[in-house]
Amino acid sequence: MINDFEYFAPKTLKEALKLLDQYRDDYKIIAGGQSLLIMMRQGLINPKYLIDIKGISELDYIQTDAKKGLRIGALTTHRAIEKSPVIKKSFGVIAEMENSLASIQTRNWGTIGGNLCHGDPAGDPAPVLIALNASLTIAGMNGQRNMSVEDFFLDYFETALEHGELLSEIQIPAMPSHTGAAYTKFNVIENDMATVGVAVSMTLASKDGHCKDVRIALANSAPRPMRAKRAEELLRGKKITGNLLKEAGEIASSETEPLSDIHASAEYRQELVKVLVKRVGTEALTRAKQV
Ligand SMILES: Cc1cc2nc3c(=O)[nH]c(=O)nc-3n(C[C@H](O)[C@H](O)[C@H](O)COP(=O)(O)OP(=O)(O)OC[C@H]3O[C@@H](n4cnc5c(N)ncnc54)[C@H](O)[C@@H]3O)c2cc1C
Repeated sequence: MINDFEYFAPKTLKEALKLLDQYRDDYKIIAGGQSLLIMMRQGLINPKYLIDIKGISELDYIQTDAKKGLRIGALTTHRAIEKSPVIKKSFGVIAEMENSLASIQTRNWGTIGGNLCHGDPAGDPAPVLIALNASLTIAGMNGQRNMSVEDFFLDYFETALEHGELLSEIQIPAMPSHTGAAYTKFNVIENDMATVGVAVSMTLASKDGHCKDVRIALANSAPRPMRAKRAEELLRGKKITGNLLKEAGEIASSETEPLSDIHASAEYRQELVKVLVKRVGTEALTRAKQV
């Protein structure tokens, strides 16, 4: 059962920030409600004031710039991102990730900003955005601040958002040449939350050259989306082989601190990381050689 609350539907960012400031003590922001309403129905949260930002059209956009890369407004739905021709062309891994997220119904209403702010370590967008070195803009009454997506996640369902703030934009830098990125999640039910998710972005020095840079990001492998930095270190500067990726998978697995739950034991998740880092790394390498 959902308790009574007072409902506001601001139409501009300025109006929303004013409401957040005014009801600082006991508000909750709602965007698509795909995660929040479940928590409210379960009685896990009972806000006095619900601030519905879904109608703020100025936060719903996809823009690209050859130099700066991609900018996505926080209220852009998963479905709009999945279907965007410009994202499919230049950031195919994001469109692929969105296509594997939930059902079409949920993707039609849920927003990328809501997904990140929910702070679920099993969420799909975070590892992909971390692998692509994305950053965020957070807006508050006193102005804006920026941070990397990697730093945004503090703990299990806990983010760096402070009271009175909302996430306004996600920025993804243009991919350097000879860069390939891939994402895979393992789940028993198709398009369900990830038992484990792995994203890899790899940049080669030349088409067949050594690995100039690599970022490996994992979902549901720790209390927050994480990078496997020691595994990255192993690969950087080397000519990538199957054996090296296998070793990277083993190292990545040792870096994780997964939980055991009804879906999988911690040990099973660590085995998945071993296998998926090699598999997704191989795909990222193949893609890097093609561009
Ligand atoms: C059946 C089902 C299946 C799902 N499967 C997946 C899946 O496979 N992979 C996956 O990653 N997710 C999955 N999800 C989760 C869901 O898709 C996302 O969490 C959803 O996109 C959240 O977006 P929303 O706009 O609905 O956020 P809401 O539910 O409205 O909000 C979520 C949280 O973020 C806060 N918030 C929202 N927007 C902002 C903002 N701009 N600034 C600050 N705070 C904000 C809210 O206060 C709340 O705490 C699934 C959900 C359902 C219901």
